[in-house]
Amino acid sequence: MDILDEFKFSFKGDVSNETWIKDYYSVDSSNHQIYPELVCFPKDEDDIKISLNSAIRNGLSISCRGAGTSLLGQTLSNGLILDFTRYMNKILGIDLQSNFVSVQPGVVKGILDKELRKHNKFLPPNPASSNYCTIGGMVSNNSSGPYGLGYGSILKYLQQVDFNYYDGSRGFAKDGVCDDRLRKLLLPLIPAHYEITSAYPNVSKNSCGYRLDSVFTPTYSPQRIFAASEGTLAIVNSLKLKILDLPIFRSLFIVYFSSVQKACMYSRKILSTSPVALELLDTPVMDSSIKYVTKNKDGCLLFIEYFYSYNEEINTITSLLRNAIYPEGKVLEQAHDLNSITNLWNSRRNALNMAIRYTVGNRKPFTIFEDTAVSIEHLYDYIVYMLALYKKYDLPYVIYGHLGNGNLHTRPIIIDSNESDGQLDSKQMKILEDITNLIFKKVQEYRGTITAEHGDGISRAPYIRNVYNDFILSYFTYVKKAFDPLNILNPGKIIA
Ligand SMILES: Cc1cc2nc3c(=O)[nH]c(=O)nc-3n(C[C@H](O)[C@H](O)[C@H](O)COP(=O)(O)OP(=O)(O)OC[C@H]3O[C@@H](n4cnc5c(N)ncnc54)[C@H](O)[C@@H]3O)c2cc1C
Repeated sequence: MDILDEFKFSFKGDVSNETWIKDYYSVDSSNHQIYPELVCFPKDEDDIKISLNSAIRNGLSISCRGAGTSLLGQTLSNGLILDFTRYMNKILGIDLQSNFVSVQPGVVKGILDKELRKHNKFLPPNPASSNYCTIGGMVSNNSSGPYGLGYGSILKYLQQVDFNYYDGSRGFAKDGVCDDRLRKLLLPLIPAHYEITSAYPNVSKNSCGYRLDSVFTPTYSPQRIFAASEGTLAIVNSLKLKILDLPIFRSLFIVYFSSVQKACMYSRKILSTSPVALELLDTPVMDSSIKYVTKNKDGCLLFIEYFYSYNEEINTITSLLRNAIYPEGKVLEQAHDLNSITNLWNSRRNALNMAIRYTVGNRKPFTIFEDTAVSIEHLYDYIVYMLALYKKYDLPYVIYGHLGNGNLHTRPIIIDSNESDGQLDSKQMKILEDITNLIFKKVQEYRGTITAEHGDGISRAPYIRNVYNDFILSYFTYVKKAFDPLNILNPGKIIA
């Protein structure tokens, strides 16, 4: 029987092997391309089971997809793709008493934000891609965004995950309890837990590998095994997340520094004023709405936001911030009402789009080390080291992102002289390889991570061993095999 025929009778959603659909799903927001065999749009859990059974019968891989905004090829596979955005995109319920929201994986974060706002609630992780990205994708990449500083990544908000194992059977995991199969699967991690946790990166955000360190700390939270797992362990069919009350007052300041290094130098002082967001934009990624404020090409802007409960606090906050940035930082703008704050944040949101626009034609961005993080005490030395490497190799670059988390996104821009075939020449490849190795070595020296929020995908899976020792890697292999003995769930991601 043709694989498409297998879906005809019982699958409630849609299935397609049309060329244009396969074209569309052969790419995501990365530089990779892989053509799938079939694209499925499941309507419910039964459809997920049918897809899993078909994948096993036909020896195909199966990969999930939200909005496809992953930057490292997480969603691509040559087997079945399950897209959750067409049907499994519902908000299942908001519990205002206990502060939870239940959703299907394909719910778009921006739509959830609007719904929660009606009840004066919010789910803090806010990637710049919020208008498109889905909750299933955010959990699987352990996304965060600017409020990662004040509120952490989505892992922290994950209360319950309902999922299907590779063979279709149901599983669940929530605070303190999970199904029996998962309980048994996690048992071998218990005696190794302390040793595992103590060797994890010393950073405030981490999306590299499996987050085994978060499963038993501070309490037993088996659902966290799915955060950052990139669809390699199970297929998630619904999720429950903690929500918070919206802040009563907010203030956003835009501060100018004459160089990225200077901004990094002041970061610890600024953090002592307790902002919920501390973001950096360098000149190439500023859009026209804010570019006018800095004519110096080395200059950068910081976006610093505070949440607070009493109107009078603003005077204290303003003077604390002015002291913290004195004498080199200059407050250029400030906003205290929601509209003005949202408008200013839109410029920050555009940073990656600006970086992409900056890299058209023969200017190619290089993305392997675009999402490293180190702890704030190492940030200045780390950035000075990185910028010196760019200078040494005479590479233009962009740099922006989550300064407060020590997580600056950066991409060197390579001028591709062979534009016709899109391939960099061997000298350029060698330079990039050398820089990558040097930067990852530095990250390792500072006990940082090679990916704070974007995940590993295809591009970074081979580098995970720069972050974890063999002991932890052996547990990664154990977890993957125990969940997915046939290696059909998004193969090639995390375990390369
Ligand atoms: C312009 C731009 C800006 C960005 N800004 C940020 C930012 O500020 N912060 C940040 O953290 N990230 C950012 N990202 C990265 C990306 O948007 C996030 O990782 C996002 O959360 C991915 O969501 P998605 O719906 O697109 O997921 P996808 O890319 O579709 O999928 C992500 C992963 O989730 C898995 N998955 C999806 N659904 C399921 C399911 N039901 N079961 C199991 N696995 C599943 C997929 O297989 C894949 O491995 C940005 C990306 C772009 C393009």
